[in-house]
Amino acid sequence: MGETITMKDIQEGSVSIMVPEAKIPEYGEVFYNPVMEKDRNISVCVCDLLQEILKKADLKGLGALSATGIRALRYKKESGLDMCANDCNPKAVKLIKKNVKRNKMKMEVTEEDANVLMRNNHFDFIDIDPFGSPISFIDSASASLGRNGFLSITATDTAPLCGSYPKVSERRYGIKSMKTDYYNELGLRILISAVMRIFARYERVFVPYLSYSRLHYFRVYGKVENGVKRVNRLLKEFSYVSHCFKCGWRDMKLEKKCPLCSEATQFCKVYLGDIQNSKFLEKLENRLQKRMFVAEEKLVTKIKEEISFPFYYDLHYLYKKTGKRSDKMEKTMEKIRQKGFHVSRTHFCPTAIKTNATFDDMKEII
Ligand code: SAM
Repeated sequence: MGETITMKDIQEGSVSIMVPEAKIPEYGEVFYNPVMEKDRNISVCVCDLLQEILKKADLKGLGALSATGIRALRYKKESGLDMCANDCNPKAVKLIKKNVKRNKMKMEVTEEDANVLMRNNHFDFIDIDPFGSPISFIDSASASLGRNGFLSITATDTAPLCGSYPKVSERRYGIKSMKTDYYNELGLRILISAVMRIFARYERVFVPYLSYSRLHYFRVYGKVENGVKRVNRLLKEFSYVSHCFKCGWRDMKLEKKCPLCSEATQFCKVYLGDIQNSKFLEKLENRLQKRMFVAEEKLVTKIKEEISFPFYYDLHYLYKKTGKRSDKMEKTMEKIRQKGFHVSRTHFCPTAIKTNATFDDMKEII
């Protein structure tokens, strides 16, 4: 208790900040994760595009859960966005203020519960980067963003979202998750679906621009806009996905019994529309290239090249379930193409492909 925490100096992007030396901070101490640098690099480039997306100058951004302040500092210094850095932990706020000074910058720093701050203030762009789930901040973000805004969200509670704790997912996101072979995409879509439903309550759409799964987390960037008709159209893109855990069959409709093996299926209802915006990805790719963020550009290119049809097939799982001998990935992809289907690799899983071929088609092809 009361022990002084050892700090170290680090450089990330164009800012130099003090961060706690400990990799896993003690309870109540300030958090910094160097592994998220790549994600922050992507976020800086997203900030570069905000004026164009929102068709507005003089944007005000909020790092709602800032810790060391790294995101807000970088967004302001590298992208020129007017930022406010907030955290409810007084130790974090003290450190953010020091880090602002260190970089000879001026930035608003607040020590508030993020929900209270967002309820009382308007922002055009909000970054929600919490420990675990972002869901408890979305209502307030909706209140803060107003008619036209941009939101970025991180979720690190991938275990509930990906089917390890379906009941937690049901409580938190209103959708029972399933541990399918495409769990990363289903988990990400459960998160997006829950966020969309929250915005829908306020007759507002959340339109995903970039969504990905990386390491231990999901990240989604999207535009928020008003419009009852748009909300209704978006909600029409919600549908069931049914999965048979015995034979691996799946389809995007409600089937309580597997048509192949008659086993009872599991199912849930999620958003099945686009989770990427191809025009935005192209612009983002250019920004990443200009800033020489090579690995990040590769990730965005991979995402851009993925076909948008929901739910990938993990070929390892498929070969195991069907008892077929496994082929090289490229060979399987070629066979799928020859049958007239679209096919691509996916950033979600290195052994998986995305295609519009159904499970039955896939069985036949392999
Ligand atoms: N964005 C940071 C970065 O990129 O390094 C990491 C943020 S860390 C994962 C989450 C932060 O949220 C912690 O600093 C914590 O103190 C803060 N926090 C948690 N609940 C909060 C709340 N209700 N309001 C404001 N800050 C909160």
